[in-house]
Amino acid sequence: MRNAYSPNFGPRRENTPVDMLVFHYTGMQTAQSAINRLCDPDSNVSAHYCIDENGIIFSMVDEDKRAWHAGKSFWRGETDINSRSIGIEIVNPGHHLGYCSFPEGQMTSVVNLSKDILSRYSIPAWNVVGHSDIAPDRKLDPGEFFDWEKLAAAGVGVWPTPRTSNQCNLKSTLATYGYDGEAHNTIEAFQRHFRPSAITGKSDEESCQIAAGLIEMVTKI
Ligand SMILES: [Zn+2]
Repeated sequence: MRNAYSPNFGPRRENTPVDMLVFHYTGMQTAQSAINRLCDPDSNVSAHYCIDENGIIFSMVDEDKRAWHAGKSFWRGETDINSRSIGIEIVNPGHHLGYCSFPEGQMTSVVNLSKDILSRYSIPAWNVVGHSDIAPDRKLDPGEFFDWEKLAAAGVGVWPTPRTSNQCNLKSTLATYGYDGEAHNTIEAFQRHFRPSAITGKSDEESCQIAAGLIEMVTKI
């Protein structure tokens, strides 16, 4: 782990537990340009950690401080996501600059850092999210190449088993799970995370079955 301290942070809201983990991609051409931006006092953005393509982890903001990575967002009724989350930026050019798969060494560091964080906080599996999950109308990161299934297999987050669902209203099921039911791109964000093979933004049988699997996990745990 290396240090790349950012001045962009504040106090967390009082009496708020850290119970979310949020993944991002940097959406910039290089790791250095992303780190420069995350440390620039004029950018007003930051994250607790940044992981480069080679898997090197940079510590940027102390975990007990509120980093500025989520922006306007929503999850399970909460809108001040920065106060209750740890934010991890993962170096990748992103959808606008040549989105590419995440190298294995980088993903190994994502898994290891996440497991370390999960061992120190009480973070439910359904609160391990991507930026697009909590801001579906603004964000696409970390995107459909992010290997959520592998992460879940390592004990980080959820990968649901599809279940049969009767009378599926996909958007309201997703709102029950935690998504903002008022957002336009809720279904698209859910598919980007949980059904990356077909991101249509439309409800279909398979999406309904995956969503039913999500709900089952929440009620079972
Ligand atoms: Zn982001």
